[in-house]
Amino acid sequence: MTLPRCENPVTPERAAQIKATQIRERYTAERERRVRPDGSAQYRPTEAEFGYFAEDPYTERAEREPVRDVVDVAVVGGGFGGILAGARLRQQDIGSVRIVEKGGDFGGTWYWNRYPGIHCDIDAAVYLPLLEETGYIPRWKYAPGEEIRQHAVRIAEKFDLYENALFSTAVTSLTWDDADQRWLVTTDRGDEFRATYVITATGTLTEPKLPGIPGIESFAGHTFHTSRWDYGYTGGTAEGGMTGLAGRKVGIVGTGATGIQAVPMLAEDAEHLYVFQRTPSTVGVRGQRPLTAADLGADRPGWATERRENFLRLVSGEAVPGVDEDLVDDAWTESAALLEKLLPSFRRDGAGQGNEEFEAAYEALDHATMERIRARVTEIVEDPATASALQPWYRYACKRPTFSDRYLPAFNRDNVTLVDTADSHGIERMTERGVVVDGVEYEVDALVFATGFSVGVSGITSGRLPVTGRDGLQLLHAWAQEGPRSLHGFASSGFPNLLKMGSLHNASSVNFSHILDEQAVHAAALVVAAETRGALVEPSREAEDAWARRIAEGAPRHAWFHAECTPGYYNAEGAGRPDVPTGYPGSAVAFHEELRAWRETSIDEALTVPRT
Ligand code: NDP
Repeated sequence: MTLPRCENPVTPERAAQIKATQIRERYTAERERRVRPDGSAQYRPTEAEFGYFAEDPYTERAEREPVRDVVDVAVVGGGFGGILAGARLRQQDIGSVRIVEKGGDFGGTWYWNRYPGIHCDIDAAVYLPLLEETGYIPRWKYAPGEEIRQHAVRIAEKFDLYENALFSTAVTSLTWDDADQRWLVTTDRGDEFRATYVITATGTLTEPKLPGIPGIESFAGHTFHTSRWDYGYTGGTAEGGMTGLAGRKVGIVGTGATGIQAVPMLAEDAEHLYVFQRTPSTVGVRGQRPLTAADLGADRPGWATERRENFLRLVSGEAVPGVDEDLVDDAWTESAALLEKLLPSFRRDGAGQGNEEFEAAYEALDHATMERIRARVTEIVEDPATASALQPWYRYACKRPTFSDRYLPAFNRDNVTLVDTADSHGIERMTERGVVVDGVEYEVDALVFATGFSVGVSGITSGRLPVTGRDGLQLLHAWAQEGPRSLHGFASSGFPNLLKMGSLHNASSVNFSHILDEQAVHAAALVVAAETRGALVEPSREAEDAWARRIAEGAPRHAWFHAECTPGYYNAEGAGRPDVPTGYPGSAVAFHEELRAWRETSIDEALTVPRT
């Protein structure tokens, strides 16, 4: 007897194609479930709604006389950017440095964010700057927020940054005085002082945001945002022990990098925890463990710099196979190494982004990564419906990845309920008693908003901090026509001795403290060069034009990618992200090398002789 032959066998290639198509269709469907017509307007400004955002829960504001003096350098912002600028200036023996900070102490994001479970998800020995200079060895592979905050204080103490600092003070204007060749700095405490140089380090995630949920103000229970954790209500500390939550039903809105860290802690201490999720995060393996000096090889001079550079090379795709070992060895470097292994030829011949074969291989790798992440959810979470709702269906780079070994197991507890809000595009409405999703009311005593921050609304490019340069020229007015102008992102013509730290026209990395440190070194070098030559830090328009051309040549071609992504702040809540050139066209490694070489040979391009 002859067995019937299968006429159209499905080859492995065909099966892979079918699977890829199914995944793409699912991604589109999941995106559609979440896109809202009001896009970014779905959020409301927190300051106007909740007075406590304007207050500092950690430090009482001390009354003081307004300051009216002259300093060499004023630094706006006392987070890692400002602290590193101060430290690098001190290393160059620049005289008086004054840091002005809104919070009651140094630390920036680590000052404000003290929620339970807070950690930095980048290896502590590459995230914490100036480890060798301060002689500090991180205690854990991923540093808790309090350890990071204390390290910020340690750096500030080591480099005498407290001496001149103004805390609980916001800079309200910067005005260049051509006659005096200095900046006039005013603040909300009535200060009016002068500074030869101003460095702005105002951060990006400084303004907490709340969703514009109908009825939010009618909620009669207790409510706060993760960046202003109310330990007066919950009791305990960032390490837990929130006895105030005993017998209480708590809700948390938001499952981004913050929510992931807070949920396991709330689950332990609340009587019941409702996790209101709209889009599940990718939750990779964490592997938290204690660190020792021996683990880090910290007896060798240069160990910290070597480790930090190694991490940057790996995550920037700049590691040389066989030469650069992986010193950090975690989920960040593993995914970078995987990409390197599968796509080396594309990287080497420079035919990356935009190349069809590259995009196909990249998509296949992405699908495999996401399948692993989804499989991890079903391996850990016992209830099938909960596991299914916790699976992320979008490409890996659509949202910031998160890592935790405690988040997913929390959903196996009897006192934790996941409430999926995707179909109602988030929480439907709030009542006096609680939260309504798909017509069901969840009564809670307290509701925590882990809903993130408005990106790009602080600092000088948002207009919140008005800057007036030469001849009364307003910074935003000057940039209104053609967009921001700069040389390397730091200095701009018409605004002498104003140095900007941040991501404008600059390179970026997941390890942003490293980026800030390189910027601080560069800013200090510019100040030294200007002092040595009796010049002002102010590039010519030609130098700015040349830099604008460099940036434009490497403009990203990611618009299509973001258009297909699930909504979030990466793609303006689904509206998309245009391919406009905003940053350095290459990797952070290349940018740092370029800046170092430029400082040796061409730093005069950033200087002008004073017009007096
Ligand atoms: P995110 O903006 O990343 O997340 C906000 C969360 O709130 C999302 O899950 C969002 O859902 C949800 N949300 C917003 N509105 C609603 C609504 N109406 N109903 C239901 N859910 C809603 O904020 P995070 O504070 O988590 O993170 C901010 C940034 O801080 C991160 O990008 C990260 O860079 C940084 N961070 C870094 C850490 C680190 O370890 N290095 C740790 C913590 C934060 P949806 O996704 O659907 O919009």
